[in-house]
Amino acid sequence: MKSPKKGIKWETLGFGFSDVNCHLRMTWKDGKWSKPKFVKEPWISMHIGAACLHYGQECFEGIKAFRQKNGKIAIFRPDENAKRMYRTAERTCMPPIPVKTFIECCKAIVKKNAEYVPPFGTGGSMYLRPLLIGTGPQIGVAPAKEYTFMIMVMPVGAYYKGGIKPVRAVIFDDWDRAAPHGMGDVKVGGNYAAGIFAHEKAKKEGWPVELYLDAKTHKFVEEFATSNFAGITKDGVYVTPDSCSVLPSVTNMSLRQCAKDLGIKVEVRPVPYTEIKKFQAVAALGTAVVITPVWEITRGREVIKVSDPNVVHPTLQKLYDRVQGIQYGLVKDTHKWCFEVK
Ligand SMILES: *Cc1c(COP(=O)(O)O)cnc(C)c1O
Repeated sequence: MKSPKKGIKWETLGFGFSDVNCHLRMTWKDGKWSKPKFVKEPWISMHIGAACLHYGQECFEGIKAFRQKNGKIAIFRPDENAKRMYRTAERTCMPPIPVKTFIECCKAIVKKNAEYVPPFGTGGSMYLRPLLIGTGPQIGVAPAKEYTFMIMVMPVGAYYKGGIKPVRAVIFDDWDRAAPHGMGDVKVGGNYAAGIFAHEKAKKEGWPVELYLDAKTHKFVEEFATSNFAGITKDGVYVTPDSCSVLPSVTNMSLRQCAKDLGIKVEVRPVPYTEIKKFQAVAALGTAVVITPVWEITRGREVIKVSDPNVVHPTLQKLYDRVQGIQYGLVKDTHKWCFEVK
């Protein structure tokens, strides 16, 4: 596998677009998927009537590949993202990508861009963004007749340099992210469109993340705008909300398994808003950062101080180290989560 490219400042990479060798592209027409192609230019030309542009027939995924200690390159649990995109495609009337094909495509595009996978020890990784869109023209509301599947890749840096750092969160009662039995449990761009207004407001007012309550009653915790929610009780139990409008996070799933492996009790159940102040720690969970501790949550005039802003709860730190350890090949991969790129 190719070594990291010379001349890139890996230590200062952020989370943003940068040019690589190519992206992967596959099209669906007349009832079947084409073979994957590798496209150099980062542009896509499409019909002005494309269904994704007008009616939001679109979904995506987020995955990471790591250069491990032994020099191998591994993609973290692409099988889970494959299954999730399959479900999302079915929910949005798009042709699903077979799980095996999806994994092969992930491996192929990482291999084509191997020199852009950051060196071990820099805290960086390669971010994979699979994207499935309705590209056939569709003016009456109906599923498109043609689709495009793409995987864009880019090297990204450690989200927070020098380890994990607690942040403040806000709850807005004026806006919801996802309704019960809506699209909250699948990964569509529309969920992000639904939250972008609240996100801009939160950012302007000094909160990096927003937490959503259930849309129907505003009594139960659901998830952050782009990441799952977990709380640690005073008895050390890992609690995460059970709700039909929460996106099943691969990170959360992995952390729950690691918790069990470490002898930490796990509960997946409804989490009332009133329970937040009883937690010893709260965290946002997702591929980009794995765990972001949340030390304070504001809702209107109520400000809940969950934990110390400068201290990471030992349970969160242990879980973070375990998952990152598996990703970078420092901890034994007992569950076969790492898919090697050969
Ligand atoms: C992508 C996403 C997550 C995180 O999922 P991971 O698989 O852990 O990256 C959580 N919530 C929402 C709404 C998301 O879109």
